[in-house]
Amino acid sequence: MNGITAIGGWVGSRSAERRPKQLTGLCASGSRYLARIVPTKPFRAKNSGPIVSFTFDDVPDSALTNGARILDRHDVRGTFYVAPGTCGTEDEYWTVIDKRGVADLAHAGHEIGCHTYSHVKVQSLSSADLARETQRCFEALRDIGGNAVSKNFAYPFGNVSFPKKFQLDRQLTSCRSIYTGLNSGLIDLAMLRSVELYDRTSTEQSINATLDQAIATNAWVIFYTHDVTPNPSWIGCSPTHLEMAVKAAKARGIPCLAVDEALAAIGVRA
Ligand SMILES: [Zn+2]
Repeated sequence: MNGITAIGGWVGSRSAERRPKQLTGLCASGSRYLARIVPTKPFRAKNSGPIVSFTFDDVPDSALTNGARILDRHDVRGTFYVAPGTCGTEDEYWTVIDKRGVADLAHAGHEIGCHTYSHVKVQSLSSADLARETQRCFEALRDIGGNAVSKNFAYPFGNVSFPKKFQLDRQLTSCRSIYTGLNSGLIDLAMLRSVELYDRTSTEQSINATLDQAIATNAWVIFYTHDVTPNPSWIGCSPTHLEMAVKAAKARGIPCLAVDEALAAIGVRA
């Protein structure tokens, strides 16, 4: 444990700029590795059966107009991780939903989670800046989404160092990673495992296999994607792909729950 503490403190120390670049890079990746493997918020999941969640990061407008509507049709609540400072902005892949879109999601009963205010790499921030990012994020989201806003978070770019993970897990109920895996038995609420729901990397066969594994291991599967459009980006899925996954979970009788509902189902108090 001493080694972990020493590395964590070293990464965050002010003398970082005086270190050789290679060494600093190694230390940063080592800290990310520690964040990945060392649980800081361990919890014994008490769910009585498998669970599936559908989550959407960044929330491009198509995740609302196509993604949320598919979930609505199947009476499923999704979790949408929003960085409110990016609302209404465009990049090469999509336009992020605007504030009215966030309000629409909340009004439809979906969960709004935090994805930092400005969609930044958590590891790149000072502790004070990270605290400001999350505070601003929650204040802005609650102004729009009210009670639909939870204390559930997704790491932008999946990026977090060990000290920043430790800082966030004290403020938040859960933090979702992009590390692949199912959540079963003793899990880390500060590093929930997930499964890509991308046309590029998943198939009906792989999704069925994941769901069957969830049944066999009494696991919580958290799918995540970005845009939901017939020609999705490399980190998005088509409407038919999303609907196929929802139907596959329903056909197996697996409850499809938003992250806040799933946390309650595994025994976490909000
Ligand atoms: Zn993101």
